[in-house]
Amino acid sequence: FWQHCLDRFSKELTPQQFNTWIKPLKAEGDEEGVRLLAPNRFVQQWVKDKFLSRIQQLAETQLGRPVNIEVVLGQPEVRPASAAAESKAFAPAKPAREGHSGLNPAFNFANFVTGKANQLARAAAMQVAENPGSAYNPLFVYGGVGLGKTHLIQAIGNLVLEHNRHAKISYIHAERYVSDVVRAYQHKSFNDFKRYYHSLDLLLIDDIQFFAGKSRTQEEFFYAFNALIEAQKQVIITCDTYPKEMQGIEDRLVSRFGWGLTVAIEPPELEMRVAILLKKAEGETIALGEDVAFFIAKQIQSNVRELEGALKRVVAYSRFTGQPITVDLAKEALKDLLAVQTRQISIENIQKTVADYYKIKVAEMYSKKRSRVVARPRQMAMALAKELTQLSLPDIGDAFGGRDHTTVLHACRRIEELRNQDPTLSRDFAVLMQTLRG
Ligand code: ADP
Ligand code: MG
Repeated sequence: FWQHCLDRFSKELTPQQFNTWIKPLKAEGDEEGVRLLAPNRFVQQWVKDKFLSRIQQLAETQLGRPVNIEVVLGQPEVRPASAAAESKAFAPAKPAREGHSGLNPAFNFANFVTGKANQLARAAAMQVAENPGSAYNPLFVYGGVGLGKTHLIQAIGNLVLEHNRHAKISYIHAERYVSDVVRAYQHKSFNDFKRYYHSLDLLLIDDIQFFAGKSRTQEEFFYAFNALIEAQKQVIITCDTYPKEMQGIEDRLVSRFGWGLTVAIEPPELEMRVAILLKKAEGETIALGEDVAFFIAKQIQSNVRELEGALKRVVAYSRFTGQPITVDLAKEALKDLLAVQTRQISIENIQKTVADYYKIKVAEMYSKKRSRVVARPRQMAMALAKELTQLSLPDIGDAFGGRDHTTVLHACRRIEELRNQDPTLSRDFAVLMQTLRG
């Protein structure tokens, strides 16, 4: 959470304020709460007076529960690494103690907004949460960054835990799992490792693409996976791609990932982005008008995380200037962000990216050819140009070999239609959008 605070403050404060007051702080925390260690009394007092309430607020939204935060004087506690290592040969990722599942209670179904983009994934997740081990096993959720994969699978974990306080659940990011394997290696404690992972009721592994190329991790995971599935314990996996497109993952794992159910989360459409903004605002009792929500949602199309980031920026801006949240204020608050977005994407860039994607020549973007192989990518590029640049329809037509603006309009409508009907095209669109946005 502290990293999150740092990120927020670095945006909300001037660099000088940030470097003077916030950066020198070190965070230490446990179940009881968080201690912020200040290097001297002066910083301690100033942070207490000026920033503590904002930190508190950030912590609570981030962690989804009240947090006790103290600002104290001091240096972080240095634990002698060797002593710690000896006393505990293998420290499992999260001991399977109650309440120590690695789950963040802030991620639940109630605050997960549903729309076409995630309907299926959510329904599957619900099923699995209601019948862990017997509905779909494994459940494999894939989609681009910031689209809600972590939120959704943690919601499953939290619901299972709610139904059964004693369920042994482990939510773990794949990178963390990799380092557990490394640690087990160093301490020759694979037996402990196995005992822990093979005895879970529910294992949630996030961002499994991080297993790529790590063969020992994949081998251990293969055993854990088999043991759990055989015992009808639930396994849930997320990834940034469809299983078959994963690189550097053994075939035997890839094929097993398809044993249960594989569901995608797509980027949300406009109305859903608005709904998400309104939901977030409601959760944090922020007065956000629908007009402002629409404005932000129209500007930020890439993913939900960035959408949230934009909202937070607007809210912070309104707090610091003491003005209510209006479209004008949002425009002002997001100015830099929007400038960056539009500046970088040129129509040439779009044409080249789309041509590469469909493996046609860039020249075919402005040629007169009408065969479908080139016509569809051309329409796609026009629709993307409309979406991503400030150019008018006639301008776009010009850039595509002097086509009429009605042709461009038709292309935009057609792509819009197809995005609703044709999952492949809708995915192509999303991928291209993400690529172009970087
Ligand atoms: P991913 O794991 O796919 O990268 P996250 O689950 O971390 O994405 O989601 C990014 C942020 O967006 C989180 O704060 C999450 O709560 C929020 N979010 C994503 N999808 C939704 C949704 N459908 N409803 C509400 N919040 C969402
Ligand atoms: Mg994630």
